[in-house]
Amino acid sequence: MSQSSATGLPPVAASNRLTASAAMTAFVLGIDVGGTKTAAVLFDEADRPVGRAQVVTPRRGLTDAVIDAAREALAQVPVGAGRLVGVGIAAPGQIDVAGGRIRQAVNLEEGELPIAGMVQTALGVPCFVEHDARAAAAWLFESPPDKDDYRMTHIAYLSMGTGISAGIVLDGVPVRGAAGLAGEIGHVSADPNGPSCGCGLRGCLEAVAAGPAIERRGRAAVEAGQTTMLADGPVTAEAVFRAAAAGDPVAASIATEVGAHVARAVRALVLMFGLERVYIGGGVVASGDAFIEPIERELERERASSSLIRHAVPAGVIRVVPGDTDPVAHGAAVIARAGIARMRPRMGP
Ligand SMILES: [Zn+2]
Repeated sequence: MSQSSATGLPPVAASNRLTASAAMTAFVLGIDVGGTKTAAVLFDEADRPVGRAQVVTPRRGLTDAVIDAAREALAQVPVGAGRLVGVGIAAPGQIDVAGGRIRQAVNLEEGELPIAGMVQTALGVPCFVEHDARAAAAWLFESPPDKDDYRMTHIAYLSMGTGISAGIVLDGVPVRGAAGLAGEIGHVSADPNGPSCGCGLRGCLEAVAAGPAIERRGRAAVEAGQTTMLADGPVTAEAVFRAAAAGDPVAASIATEVGAHVARAVRALVLMFGLERVYIGGGVVASGDAFIEPIERELERERASSSLIRHAVPAGVIRVVPGDTDPVAHGAAVIARAGIARMRPRMGP
C-alpha cells in the first residue's frame, strides 16, 4: 500500500521499535472499531489470532475503550512470548491516515479524534489508522479466502452493519480518494423519499439497508399491527431475517426489499470499478442465507433481463466473509505491518 508516513504523531521510543531479534514473536494488534462493538485482536507473525477482547463502542471515550480492549487482548499471551510492535486501528468515517485521526464518522463520536497518537502514547508502539472497510479489503486482497481469488486485482469489501461502506482495491492498491472518503457507498441515494440518514440526507443506502434500518422496518410492521412473528420478541435485524427464513411474509418482504437495495449497490460497485469480487461482511451477514439469498435473487433477475449485467456482474461475484474471521481486525493488522515496514530505515543507496 502506498501511504504517507505517520507524521504528526508523538515519537516512538527506540526500544519499542521492531528489532532484528528472531527469537521473539512480533505481535501486532488489529483494532476493529464498529458502530456497536469494538474488538481488539492480537496477531502473531503468521497472522494467527492469539488474543481477543471486545467492548461495547462507547458514545464518548472511544480512545480509552480501545486502550482497555488492547490491554485485555495483550494479557492473553504469556509474558515473554513476544512483544507488541505495532497497532492498527480500523474505523468508519473519514480517516486522516497521516495525522492518525478519525473524522466524520456518522455512527461514532462527534468531531475529530486524534486516536493514533493517544493509543501510541498509551501502549508505547507505533499506531496507524485506516478506514475499516478499506483495511478489510487490503487483507482480503492479500489473503483471499479462496485460492482462486489470488489472481484477482480488482476487489471490494462491502461492510454491512450499523453502517454501510465499501473498501475498494484497484490494481492491487486500496483506493482512498482525494478526501479519504472513496467507497462511502452507504451515503449514495437509494430512495430519494426514504427515511432520514445519520449523515443529514434522506434515503441513503444506509438509511434503508443497514442493521438499524432493517430493525426499524420490522418495528414499524409490528406497530402497524401487521400479522408477523416479529411481534413475539425483540425486533432486531437478525430477528427479521430469522422470521423471513421461517416463512414469515412480512419479514420476507423486508428482506427482499433490503436485498434489492444491496444488489443495486453491488451492481453499481462492480460496474463502476470493473470488480472481479465483492466480499460482503459485517454484523448483518451473520443472518446467513436469509440475508444473502434476496441479494442473489435480485442480481439473478437483473442478469435475466440484461446481457450486459450477465457479463459485467457474473454469478458468483459475491462472497460472504463470516464475522468470526474478523476481516476488519485482520485488515487493521495489515495496516500496522505496512506502517511499521515504512518506518524501517532504508538499506543501501
Ligand atoms: Zn447518509
